Amino acid sequence: SFADVMSEQLANELQIDEEYQILKTLEKVETTEWVKSLDTSNDEVLAQILQSQMDQEYNESITRQENQVNQNSKVRLSFNNFRTDHMFASDDNDDDYDSDDEILETGSERSQNVDPSSNMLEFPADKVRQTFFSGYVVFGNEVVTKHDKEICGRRNTAKMEDRLPPGLRTGDARGMDIQLSNKIYNSLKKHAYSEQRRGQRLHETKEHYTAEHAVDERTRLILHRLVDRGVVASVNGVISIGKEAVVVHVYGGDVAAADLHIPKECAIKIYKTTLNEFRCRDKYIKDDYRFKDRFKKLNPRKIIHMWAEKEMHNLNRMHEAGIPCPEVVLLRKHVLLMSFIGDDQRPAPKLKCAILSSSQKKRAYAQVVSMMKTLFDKCKLIHSDLSEFNLLWHEEKVWMIDVSQSVELSHPHGLEFLLRDCTNVSKYFRSIGVADVLEPLQLFNEVSGLDIPITDEAEFRCTIERIENSTEEHAQQGKRKSS
Ligand code: ADP
Ligand code: MN
Repeated sequence: SFADVMSEQLANELQIDEEYQILKTLEKVETTEWVKSLDTSNDEVLAQILQSQMDQEYNESITRQENQVNQNSKVRLSFNNFRTDHMFASDDNDDDYDSDDEILETGSERSQNVDPSSNMLEFPADKVRQTFFSGYVVFGNEVVTKHDKEICGRRNTAKMEDRLPPGLRTGDARGMDIQLSNKIYNSLKKHAYSEQRRGQRLHETKEHYTAEHAVDERTRLILHRLVDRGVVASVNGVISIGKEAVVVHVYGGDVAAADLHIPKECAIKIYKTTLNEFRCRDKYIKDDYRFKDRFKKLNPRKIIHMWAEKEMHNLNRMHEAGIPCPEVVLLRKHVLLMSFIGDDQRPAPKLKCAILSSSQKKRAYAQVVSMMKTLFDKCKLIHSDLSEFNLLWHEEKVWMIDVSQSVELSHPHGLEFLLRDCTNVSKYFRSIGVADVLEPLQLFNEVSGLDIPITDEAEFRCTIERIENSTEEHAQQGKRKSS
């Protein structure tokens, strides 16, 4: 019908118009000043110019797609991750690339991709396949082997298209029958993979920006892997977002591993990988002799792994000593899987929030004092952050949690931390009306087994510091002797 013809014509016109617009922007690119000022007699510079123009075109097409998808929507999808951004980017070296942090099997996949002894059957170009099925081919009197330069070049071109990471746009090299020498192919390959890693790193950095309160990419991989392996059946709600860690409720999986007992309900504590909060906590780990030597050598992310490791060791010791506490299931970098204190996804209340009868309060107090003693005597640990916030009430008893900052008795400030713990405990139980609560200093003597005279607090503190110093000296001497 006439209307159809009209609309077709209109469509054509619109299209031509659009193409013209694009063409105009491309012309603009060609005449930009910086291109003119470059020395175009150099092949490399020329290649880079072409590449950057290609990138720019590509990015523009991404922008167009992005706009088309989003239209006028208030919530926009970003296509930023698809843009290329290596205008003249130097291949910055990969030294800081933390290979042992590459969890999941990406490594092996990648190495499969770049297998240098290429599989002959795989070359898609007909030409190549004909000449190269058995490694050599006979043309009249001539035998052409796989070492033939021309064949090898074509083969490299074919490989370039099929083997290099997806997203590397190499143009229609095969259509133009380009032959790449091994040397060029190899350096292209190297570049392609380092470029891919660089892209991943950039992407990761962006992801880290949002990791303040959520789960970052690394953590997500660890969680995915736990689910994949059947260690975790499902990841449920967030129990707590603290300054240093996020705690999440999960259901245990049914993986059949002899050494792994997975409770039905578990808690996962994820130490935050944003570092600011941890800086001021260095003192708890720096002077703990178990971690002292390692502390100096590590990068900040590794130090966070150490916090998780420390919590694991401490929980294990407590468990052995019979202190009610979460039981460690396993540790993956900064992610700690442990048993859940609570029922049906409802975490046990903190002592601070639990509603207790007066007899329960009394028992809770007695239990906390005895736990502190056990922690000191048997586990040789000082909690260092003990308060009604890190004690849970569950099954008619008190459970001790949050021991990543707990220190060995030999810690140069350990006794000061203990005094602080005692002060918190005494204050709290007094405030909820428990009778016969020990004074902080009395509790300190009771827990530590020391018999420091209680005259006034300042003097008490001085004595504590003196003891700490002499212990420190002892330790130093011991070290010197042994060395
Ligand atoms: P933070 O360093 O953020 O204080 P915690 O280890 O104290 O980390 O955990 C924060 C909160 O998460 C706790 O107060 C407690 O309510 C909850 N929680 C932690 N571990 C467990 C667990 N194993 N079972 C149940 N709840 C837990
Ligand atoms: Mn806590």
